[in-house]
Amino acid sequence: MFKAILINKDDQGYHATLSQVDEQQLPAADVTVNILASTINYKDALAITGKAPVVRRFPMVPGIDLVGEVSHSESARFAPGDKVLLNGFGVGEGHWGGLAQKARLDSSWLITLPESISPENAMAIGTAGYTAMLCVLALQRHGITPKQGEVLVTGANGGVGSFAVRILAKLGYQVVASTGRPDESDYLKKLGAADIIPRSQLSEPGKPLQKERWAAVVDCVGSHTLANACASTRYGGAVAACGLAQGMDFPSSVAPFILRGVTLYGIDSVMRPLADRVQAWQHLAELLNQSDFDAISQVISLDQVIETARALLAGKIQGRVIVKV
Ligand code: NDP
Repeated sequence: MFKAILINKDDQGYHATLSQVDEQQLPAADVTVNILASTINYKDALAITGKAPVVRRFPMVPGIDLVGEVSHSESARFAPGDKVLLNGFGVGEGHWGGLAQKARLDSSWLITLPESISPENAMAIGTAGYTAMLCVLALQRHGITPKQGEVLVTGANGGVGSFAVRILAKLGYQVVASTGRPDESDYLKKLGAADIIPRSQLSEPGKPLQKERWAAVVDCVGSHTLANACASTRYGGAVAACGLAQGMDFPSSVAPFILRGVTLYGIDSVMRPLADRVQAWQHLAELLNQSDFDAISQVISLDQVIETARALLAGKIQGRVIVKV
């Protein structure tokens, strides 16, 4: 038996509980792991609370991220004792995930945990930090350099936002953080934000073209915020869109794209090919150190996961949550 967060749906509705699960119930796959650490992302919080139809099969163990030690492997790529990392691939949505003590996973979803990153630090990063890195890599590939000017990060106090601020600041960019929690300015300044603007400056309907300010943008929020960010991006600039915390809609016009040559990059972490994942994790391993992880993350246990998921959706969690299983 092992402990897991289990999500069920029945006549009485949708409920998540910390349960004892029989190992024989693990889904079929070629690698079995003892989970060392997991985390709670926005999508996990949606799955656990049932606020959005993230879970595609019941019962489900949520958790789109995990680090585990291989206990059994039918794959030539991994042997017992190997430390492996998983982000996404529909795990925690359609296949049992990381908010548990054990998992059985498809070897094609796994990468080797970079040696310099501990299991806990890898989960401080998690899909949030890895997505922030994918956003920054997209902006760099576009040719955005620190000399070009301010880079906007929206939803800056969240998991993706915190890592985007930290990564960009470490790379020498001048970061402007947009947040609905201006009282947390000290935290964002410590991460390296040069300036902080209130969320309300971007979240209301705006003009299709506005004063050019941003060399580039990492947007975790979508909706009017993304539309206003595009409308105020400078000629030839780039916007990396990865989130929908304000909404999935995009009430914009083509004006920034056809009149200012602005490029909008869509960033998906879930089905990203392995080579891109390995590259992003290598960059994260080189860039970040223990003080970054300590600044951004807090540690909880499996029995605190459900209440923490609710707090995350209520916008009460800053940065990242590591779950010790
Ligand atoms: P968090 O909950 O940690 O952060 C979201 C942040 O968005 C909040 O902290 C808040 O920041 C801001 N926010 C919340 N509600 C609103 C609102 N109504 N209007 C404007 N801003 C709001 O989530 P994550 O950082 O883990 O994820 C951020 C987004 O990125 C989510 O939508 C998530 O689904 C998406 N995502 C996408 C991935 C991909 O592959 N494309 C991968 C990972 C995440 P503040 O308090 O500073 O305003």
